[in-house]
Parts: sequence; structure tokens; C-alpha cells
Amino acid sequence: MTIIDTHCHLDNIQYQDDLDEVIQEALRSGVKAFLIPGADPKDLPRAVSICEKYPEVFFAVGVHPYDCDNFDIEILKKYVEHPKCIAVGECGLDYFRLPENEEEKKQNIQLQKDIFIAQINFAKEVKKPLIVHIREASNDSKIILIDNNAKEVGGVLHCFNASEHLLELSEHNFYFGIGGVVTFKNAKKLIDIVPKIPLEKLIIETDGPYLTPHPYRGSRNEPKYTNEIAQKISEILSKDKIEVEELTTKNAKKLFKEFNTII
Ligand SMILES: [Zn+2]
Ligand SMILES: [Zn+2]
Repeated sequence: MTIIDTHCHLDNIQYQDDLDEVIQEALRSGVKAFLIPGADPKDLPRAVSICEKYPEVFFAVGVHPYDCDNFDIEILKKYVEHPKCIAVGECGLDYFRLPENEEEKKQNIQLQKDIFIAQINFAKEVKKPLIVHIREASNDSKIILIDNNAKEVGGVLHCFNASEHLLELSEHNFYFGIGGVVTFKNAKKLIDIVPKIPLEKLIIETDGPYLTPHPYRGSRNEPKYTNEIAQKISEILSKDKIEVEELTTKNAKKLFKEFNTII
């Protein structure tokens, strides 16, 4: 068994007490590598220390749209030099939690866009793929990615939101990260769209500690649950689970080249 969890916040406080156990259990369940996305830059020292302890764990530098106020390109420049930093993100647009006030809303959207574009340009500068977070902002995100030639480095649309509209980005060097949501009872839209994703663009992620797959919903998500995701994708595509594991691992290694050094 070989699975890569391409998106798991192992630096999150929810893993603080038993991280070693979480990683060892995941390794035993077939997970061979992990990628910690950047979210709030203040968590970067912890991500680095985890990566320095575990050869299987890598990290990315980036600022989540919810953490835009903490964006500082100098911090990203400092951490991107680390040998285990393999991507830029997660960055993107999230219109789910915008301010009510019209003026503030406009300002927030503009800030998110500016910081997203800055990170796309940074990724091109350092030649690393992007981890893109999109929530209720498919149209604007697509326009920004295309207009700023993100194709040059490519990346992953993490926690792919099942927007038909975004499938076109597969032609722009983008992969689609499928997570626990695909196992939810109300995931009809995502289940319908998974077969439309080009097979060579499909990758697996947990987004732990969030979005725990069925039947573990309600408890903390962990990288070992990539198995539930692979299982569900195999049912949707009428393939063996092992085939899905091999395929998604191959894809993840193509996007994030440093995984080739350990798998
Ligand atoms: Zn995200
Ligand atoms: Zn995330």
C-alpha cells in the first residue's frame, strides 16, 4: 500500500499531544508521505520542526485567505529556502466568511485577491507548485490563476469543491485534491464530478484535522483516513483500491517532485 496525504495540517494544535502516534499509525496504514500546507505563518516553526524529525513529512509556505492579515512575503522567503519546503500555499480565495458591511466586504475581497496574486508570483519566482484553496469563489479564482499564468508552476486545487467550472484548470497544469467530503452522504455533486477529472490529475488529501471522512465524522481527521478516501474513489471509478493508490501516488510525485526522494 502506498498513499500520500498531500494536505494535512500536522502542525495544528489538535495533534500536539499525540503527533508521533498519528504519524506512526498512518505509516502502518500505508501512508508513505505527508505534506503540511502553510496557513498562518506563525505556525511555520512548528511545521519545520516536524519535517526535521520525520523524513516522510514535507511542508509548504503560504498564507490562507483567513490569515491574510498575517501575510509577510519576507517570512515566506525565509522559509522557502528550507530543503523540505516543496510548495507554495495554501493560498486562494474564500468568500464563505466575508464581512457583512458592503465596504468592508469589498476591501476584504480585494485584499484576498492581492495576496493570492502575490503568492502566485512568488511560486513562479521560486519555481514551486501551488496549493490552492477555493471556497465559494470559483470564478474569481479561475480568472486569477489563468491571468497570472499559474500554469507555469501548476499545483493542486485542494479540497476540490466540485465546481464543473474549475475542471478546465486541468489543462493549466492543475491537479484536483479529493478529501473526506467525497465519503459524506450528501456528496452527490462531488461523486458525480470525480469521474470527469482526468485520471492523471487526481490526488488524495485529508485536510486533517478537518473534514473527517465517514464513518469517523465528528472525531479528529487523521492521515490514516486517506484509506477511506481511496476506498470511496475506487468505488466511484469501479477500480481496485490499490489501483487508485498507485495512480494518485504517481500523480502526487509528479506534482511534488521531492516525494520521489523517499518513495
Ligand atoms: Zn484549505
Ligand atoms: Zn488546509
